[in-house]
Amino acid sequence: MEQTDTLICITCPMGCALAVTHEGQTVVRVTGNHCNRGPRYAQAELTDPRRMVATTVKVRGGSKPLLPVYTAAPFPKGRIFELLDALRRLEVDAPVRADQVILANALGSGIDVLASRDMA
Ligand code: SF4
Repeated sequence: MEQTDTLICITCPMGCALAVTHEGQTVVRVTGNHCNRGPRYAQAELTDPRRMVATTVKVRGGSKPLLPVYTAAPFPKGRIFELLDALRRLEVDAPVRADQVILANALGSGIDVLASRDMA
């Protein structure tokens, strides 16, 4: 049975309001999108929603106590709290370079967590 839900596309700052008609996890049609990334976003939201994650981890011997980090790719939404918990328990040694891998293959996802900046 078809069902229509409204989603806000977060792929770009336009933030189009998408009317997504779907049968289960299969998108039937999408309206309200200003480009063809909208339907792709809608399909991903139904089957494998993901988000970029940015947070901080503790640093030993750094110029600041916390290092900003980010996921190299959008991370499975359902496991974000698990990832944040793992990063909360992590402590890295200074110095750190921007884009250095801080946590490789986070939670077996194939996605690395990287440093957002240098830390002397
Ligand atoms: S549908 Fe296209 S234009 Fe609209 S928010 Fe998504 S990416 Fe941006």
